[in-house]
Amino acid sequence: IKDHYDVVIIGSGGAGLTSAIQAYELGLKPVILEKMDKIGGNTTRASSGMNAAETSIQLDHKIVDSFEDFYDETFVGGGKKNNPELLKFFTEHSVLAIDWLSHHGIKLDDLTITGGMKTMRTHRPSSLAPIGGYLVTELLKYIAKYRIPLFSGIKVSELLTEKGHIIGIKADAQKEYVIKTKAVVLATGGFGAGKDLLAKYRSDLLNLRTTNQPGATGDGISLAQSVGAKLVDMDQVQVHPTVQQDTPHAFLIGEAVRGEGAILVNNSGLRFVNELDTRKNVTKAIDDLGGTGAYLIFDSNIRKRVKAIEFYDHVGLVETGQTITELSDRINIDPKVLDNTVKNWNIIVRNHDDNDFGRTTGMERDVSNGPFYAIHIAPAVHYTMGGVVINHKTQVLNKDEQIIKGLFAAGEVAGGLHGNNRIGGNSIAETIVFGRQAGQQVFKYIQG
Ligand code: ADP
Repeated sequence: IKDHYDVVIIGSGGAGLTSAIQAYELGLKPVILEKMDKIGGNTTRASSGMNAAETSIQLDHKIVDSFEDFYDETFVGGGKKNNPELLKFFTEHSVLAIDWLSHHGIKLDDLTITGGMKTMRTHRPSSLAPIGGYLVTELLKYIAKYRIPLFSGIKVSELLTEKGHIIGIKADAQKEYVIKTKAVVLATGGFGAGKDLLAKYRSDLLNLRTTNQPGATGDGISLAQSVGAKLVDMDQVQVHPTVQQDTPHAFLIGEAVRGEGAILVNNSGLRFVNELDTRKNVTKAIDDLGGTGAYLIFDSNIRKRVKAIEFYDHVGLVETGQTITELSDRINIDPKVLDNTVKNWNIIVRNHDDNDFGRTTGMERDVSNGPFYAIHIAPAVHYTMGGVVINHKTQVLNKDEQIIKGLFAAGEVAGGLHGNNRIGGNSIAETIVFGRQAGQQVFKYIQG
């Protein structure tokens, strides 16, 4: 590790890797510091995809979308609490982020849908594999190609300032490092695994499991606060509705499973919610069942559309039946009830008319082609909408809404974009849109 870099990027998830690549391509010398041994943060766990509107990929699929719809649906899904400046920039630049990825050989040519959107806007690899692993692997190829230094197992513990602007950082590994730099990008992710911050802002969630990697403890929040940054929406924590947690690890069962056609049933085998309502609303409906969770039910056609299910099955999370009756036996549900629910659902799909719960999306295929599958799920802590206040240039703001010179933040560490509920597929998009922006704005800042 050298004692000076143009910009220190803290965190190796989607936001950190993207801002490093962008900064390098503009001629800067960045370094990425990652506290965990493992690279990629929560980004590696992302499964659904990346939302963007007005893309050529959508047109290839004959889908005409608009920035306005992307904005409006995200705003409604976020309880109209989203920061309009960030949301506007985000919805109008996501298509450019898709182009940027494509320009780097990272192709998201397939489309799916997640809760809270009316049209297919969630871009994913045509292999139908989870997006996170693919993205991190592909971005790391550029980190290697450009020889951008990336150190893991090094935790940034302090931001150094002089007259209110950033001049360096301190980091700890086996020894302490002091690195001089003009700019820092906080790309440290959220605090979904941060018991201290959860205790402070949402103690009611402390008994829930989390889908997050153990390093998601919100370090960026305290680092930013130590230099005067303002925080926003810290009590807005997303609980993801469909997490398999009957084993020691909590596995998020991506929204694409529902987006491609799965339904949710309660312990009696009855549907109880529009499965593609927002995460907030689906979670509430599952909680209202009384704490025993629910089952995702789907067939082999739906399974083929989501590669991750192979993995879920491999680790023993999926129950299988050649018929609905056999599946019902496996999950202790009255076969007559489940059979009736599925038959009824298939009529709803045929008529595209869900009188029961008003579902309008993820109805391209019914549940009729055996074998049939069930996954037991329950809600778990997933994402922290709150965080450091930034403007659309990713500059971190202080309590007087003034820029803290040299400090930038991108990705989950920043608050405000998602309001009180993040739409699935917006997190990956956020890391690329604002990761690129951070790289560009650092460049402008250093140029002076
Ligand atoms: P995003 O999706 O916003 O890019 P991720 O969760 O994917 O966020 O990545 C954030 C990364 O930042 C994680 O790998 C996490 O371990 C790392 N990180 C968090 N705090 C620190 C810190 N103090 N020093 C170095 N790395 C950190």
